[in-house]
Formats: sequence, structure tokens, C-alpha cells
Amino acid sequence: MSISPTVLLYTYCITAACFILGVRYLGSPATARRGNMLAAGGMALALVISTIALSSTLPWAIVIPAVLLGAIIGAVSAKLVRMTAMPQMVALFNGMGAGTAALIGVIHILTTAEGHPLNTGDMLSTCLGTGIGSLSFTGSIIAYAKLQELIKGRPITFPLQKPFNGVLLLIIIVLGILAGTSAHAPDHVLFIALAGVSLILGIMFVLPIGGADMPVVIALLNSFTGLATALTGFVLNNAIMIVAGTLVGASGLILTQLMSKAMNRSIANILFGAFGAVQTGAGSELTGDLTVRRTTVEDLAILCTYAQSVVIVPGYGLAVARAQHEIKEVSDLLEERHVNVRYAIHPVAGRMPGHMNVLLAEANVPYTQLAEMDSINPDFPQTDVVIVIGANDVVNPAARTNPGSPIYGMPILNVDQAKTVVVLKRSMNPGFAGIDNELFYRPNTMMLFGDAKATLTELVAAIKNVQ
Ligand code: NDP
Repeated sequence: MSISPTVLLYTYCITAACFILGVRYLGSPATARRGNMLAAGGMALALVISTIALSSTLPWAIVIPAVLLGAIIGAVSAKLVRMTAMPQMVALFNGMGAGTAALIGVIHILTTAEGHPLNTGDMLSTCLGTGIGSLSFTGSIIAYAKLQELIKGRPITFPLQKPFNGVLLLIIIVLGILAGTSAHAPDHVLFIALAGVSLILGIMFVLPIGGADMPVVIALLNSFTGLATALTGFVLNNAIMIVAGTLVGASGLILTQLMSKAMNRSIANILFGAFGAVQTGAGSELTGDLTVRRTTVEDLAILCTYAQSVVIVPGYGLAVARAQHEIKEVSDLLEERHVNVRYAIHPVAGRMPGHMNVLLAEANVPYTQLAEMDSINPDFPQTDVVIVIGANDVVNPAARTNPGSPIYGMPILNVDQAKTVVVLKRSMNPGFAGIDNELFYRPNTMMLFGDAKATLTELVAAIKNVQ
């Protein structure tokens, strides 16, 4: 079946519009679902039209099984993945995209006879697309392996690591120039060497970065993959690859910047600072009254049913415990008793951007109940009860008060200013940053130890029993 270039172009325009509107709608919880559907619809359309266009050069017998296999693997793994394992799944999918872009570049060169040099633009985009794609491929695989704990998550460093990586980068550039300008251009051996060294650089680039910083690295690698896809789009003269790649490249970069800003760390510090390589608790030692006040589920039930306003702060522990449905039940019961309930969302609560939004959406928490950090922070002094569930760093007042703390300067939810704070977690263990939290010792804070799901299940029953 053949397809006219005009139909192809118009269809690509429609898919590009779907992608752009999809990204726009993803900007708000109210429209995110629609955005996701629109972008997925655009991708399905691009896939169908590209498959039809390809069928004139490739037999259906190869194209259809390949598309179906990919779609089935994608759909099944997306259905099965746990919310807490989402970052590694994104890493894996990102790696596949990057590897594909790199492979297209390699095939383009290997199918061009040596001694017939490509024009400068074509050669440059092929070298860049293959180099960046290869780096992003192995980088994503290492990120996946760290998050999946197949290799140790701590930064793996060795002396002169940065200069070593710099030399690798230089070698890649030289190989690219030689592959495109030598007498054999495009020189197949030199080009394969370029791809090979880029694969090594991807590994060396991600190894020294700590496991918990991986979500930021994945956003950056996502941006690299987008760039590699766009460059490959130039090689294949495929408009939709250029548009989609550019969108992914730009949004990945913006996301990287937003995440590092929300953690108050520079991108350079995340990439080259080996955060977590040494004990990060320096400067966080607590002094003064270190009494921990404990409470019970029954007392918390009474406290919040007689409150006027309750703010729930979800964190990584809520995702680990998978307690989103239980907390929704708690908030429904409180609302029935005319308590004003809201959820305070910190931009880096959890382990990936939007982690809490997705989790709470899964439990059908209305997005109107969600409040961003900047909008809810001024309300804490008037809030009767704050229930912190499996959140730690994002409510640590040291970020505001202790210049020696590793998280000093990170914007936090000022829950310590509320009248009463109840923290649900299993122990006094620290969170991702590995530092003590002075909130737990404040006179207006009470600790309720236990797994969040079990505690919230008991809380539901206890609230029902309050007269
Ligand atoms: P934290 O990692 O600071 O704390 C999570 C807390 O949850 C732990 O203290 C743990 O305590 C508790 N917990 C774990 N399992 C359970 C359970 N089953 N029941 C109850 N509690 C549990 O999480 P935050 O959300 O506060 O902060 C996120 C951190 O991750 C920040 O430091 C942020 O910078 C970082 N980060 C976030 C990214 C993002 O995009 N969101 C990206 C990269 C890093 P205990 O073991 O005692 O139960």
C-alpha cells in the first residue's frame, strides 16, 4: 500500500498538534488525563501512518509483528509496573528509544558505501544522533540497574573520573570528524568506534551518580533521547520524528531544571557532585530537647474529627505502603464531618515528578483538594492538624533554619508552623537525604509509628467510632 506525501504531511501535522496540546494539558492535574490520551492518540496515528508508509519498502510480515510485539510489551509492562518502580520503567523505555535512534544512525552509515561521503549536514546529524543515542542508551540501562538495585545505588567513583570522561568525549568528537572526512568517508570502522566509545561514556557518566538522584538523571537522559530522535529525523527526513524529538528534548530539559530547583541543587551538583557517596548527615546533628512524643490511632481520630482544617502531606512512604485508597477514605470520612481537608503537594515528594499527583489520582482524590507548596505554605499557621504520611525531607525545617544541612535552601512545606503535626512512619529512620528531621522532636509534633497502610486502615475504623 502506498501513501501520498501530502496525506503523510497532513497526518504528521495532526499528530504534531496532538503532541503539543498533550504536553500543554499535562501541565495541570485537571487536564493531565486528557493530555495523556491526546498524546497517546497522536502517537498511535503516527505509528499507523508510518507503518503504512514503510510497507512499500518493507514487507507487512516484518512490520506488523514488530509493531504488535512492541505494543504488547509496552502495554503489559505499563499495566504491571508498581508506582514505586515507575522511574526504572521510564529509564528502560527511554533507553529503548535512544538505542533505536542510535541504531538508525549506524544502519544509515553502514548502508552508505565507503568513499561516497555524505553531505556535511547529514553526516553531522548522523554522528550526533548516534553518539547521543548510544550514550543515552547505556546511561538509561545503568540508571535502570541502579534503581532496580541490580547494581549498588551509591555513586561509583574513581580518581580522575571527570578528566577520563572528558577524554572519552574528545575521542568521540575526533572519531566523528575523521569518519566524515577521511578518504573512506563515511568510514564504517571509525563510525562504529564512535558508537562504541559513546556507549562507554554513557556508563561512565551515570555510574558516579547516586541512585536517589536517578529521576533527575533520567529526565536529562530523556532530553538526550529526544535530541537523538530529532537528529535521526533529519537523517530519515521524517518530520514527525523531528517534532516529537524536539518536544521530548525540550520538556526533558525543563523538567531537569525544575527538579533540581525544587531540590535546591544545581544540575552540575547532581551530575558531578556524587551526592550520597559520603555520609550526607554532616551539619545535621540535632541539639536541644530531643523528646519524641508518640500518639495513638484513637487520639489522632479524635484530634482530626474535631478539627476545622486538616492538611495531609503525602510522601515517598505513602507510595511504598500503597496507602492512597486508605487516605482517601480517611479524608472522605472527615469531610462528611465538615472538616476542611486538603492535600499539600511538594514538587519532589516521592521519587519522580508528579509522583503524588498520580498516586492520589489513582484513588480518585479530587484535584481541587490538592494544593501546591507555594499556595498552601501561608495557610499552615491557621491549620489545626497536619498529617504527614511517609514524608520526611520535604517537611524538614532544617532546610529553612540550618545552614549546615545538606538540604539547606530546599523549599519545604512549612508544616512545623501548624497547630499540631502528626507524622506517620515506621521508625525514626531518615529519608532520601539521609539526615535527621528536627520536626519529629518539635513540641507540636506527635509520631505515630507503623506501616502507613496499616495505620490508616486502623484510623478509618477509629474515625467511624468517634461519637
Ligand atoms: P523521604 O525519602 O524523605 O522520606 C520517606 C519516608 O517514608 C522515610 O523517612 C520512611 O521512614 C517513610 N516510609 C517508608 N516506607 C514507609 C511505609 N511503608 N509506611 C510509612 N512510612 C514509610 O520522602 P519525601 O517524599 O519526603 O522526599 C522525597 C525525597 O526524594 C527528597 O529528598 C527529594 O529531593 C528526593 N527526590 C525526589 C525526586 C522526585 O522527582 N520526586 C527525584 C529525586 C530525588 P521509615 O523508614 O521510618 O518508615
